[in-house]
Amino acid sequence: MKLPPGLWVGSERTEMNEKKTNGAEQVENDPTENLIIVGGGPAGYTAALYAARAELEPLVIEGFQWGGQLQNTTDVENYPGYQEGVMGPEMMNDFRAQAERFGTRFITDDATEIELSDGGVQTVKVGKDTYRAKAVILSMGAEPKRLGIPGEIELAGSGVSTCGVCDGAFFKGEDVAVIGGGDSAMEDSIFVSKFAKKLFSVHRRDEYRASKIMQERARGKENIEFLTPYVPVEFVPGDDGKIAKIRLQQAETGDEKEIEVGGAFVAIGHRPRSELVQGQIETDEDGYAVVAEPSTRTKLAGVFAIGDLVDHTYRQAVTAAGSGTKGALDAEWYLRDMPPDPEEHWGTNTGAIIEAVEAS
Ligand code: NAP
Repeated sequence: MKLPPGLWVGSERTEMNEKKTNGAEQVENDPTENLIIVGGGPAGYTAALYAARAELEPLVIEGFQWGGQLQNTTDVENYPGYQEGVMGPEMMNDFRAQAERFGTRFITDDATEIELSDGGVQTVKVGKDTYRAKAVILSMGAEPKRLGIPGEIELAGSGVSTCGVCDGAFFKGEDVAVIGGGDSAMEDSIFVSKFAKKLFSVHRRDEYRASKIMQERARGKENIEFLTPYVPVEFVPGDDGKIAKIRLQQAETGDEKEIEVGGAFVAIGHRPRSELVQGQIETDEDGYAVVAEPSTRTKLAGVFAIGDLVDHTYRQAVTAAGSGTKGALDAEWYLRDMPPDPEEHWGTNTGAIIEAVEAS
């Protein structure tokens, strides 16, 4: 089988070449990288560490807010190896520095477009910059879900927040509400209750799904009042344009009531950030990337998915890091075995290669 020239050979990179396309300035970063990792959370950085140690010289498009959700987390007490716990941003800095030590390169900006191919060249755009690679690991993580009620968007930054641990300290001495019944809501409640005068924990069912230990910690706080089963229907602004009240509806009777608050924290879970690859890889009904478990392979050869983009169950830093390891090893094996033999490999990776070979 004759291979298209230059497609799978070596990992040498040259200087970036600038060229003009359709009048707009485009920057083509040439030639093709071995591996691009999109997303800089625990999964992406761990994948980068392994890939860098395997001498794949990975390029991480880490996002403008690099570090992922852990940038918004204070104490992390459940990551093995940090006996005294560690602050989320500090831990991400450690992850990043360790990957960098072995030659990982970073683009600290958001990917704006991703064009995936089945076994061909993978393309990631960051604004006017275009990057290409033989393999890509998708690690875009997840983002907070919203309630979708009036006032939620309008009052974002004016008392409505999706991150208690980031913004809680701004609400010293105020009455606030945390909405949701999971571990995120409990974590936010415990943290924000240190600053708030009174905190309403608002949940749509009487039963909380948060772990027992987190519920017990929250219930141990004297200034937390549990309001269930209540559904928020509107965030109402005061004369100063900031949140003043939340209109709540009793989930069983439909009766309404209002609570006066200076802040509201929406902590109702997360949505995977798969929008750039929707329609290209398989995703489930919630938008999570589907992989051939226990591997990280998507249905497209050379495209791997890891971390919270895939995982709706565990979503821990340590499980994300573990999946990053798997992603890097899968990518390494894929690149090592290039060109893939359609008979011996994963069955679906032949399209682009065959097309390229036929064209050459
Ligand atoms: P989650 O477990 O999915 O909980 C989401 C909560 O929001 C649920 O109680 C849900 O109510 C409620 N909710 C969802 N949509 C709603 C809506 N439209 N209106 C009102 N309420 C709504 O999400 P999470 O709390 O973010 O936790 C995600 C994962 O991360 C979990 O596995 C969790 O254990 C883990 N986590 C762990 C820690 C920790 O260990 N320190 C901290 C944070 C998160 P229902 O219960 O009625 O569905």
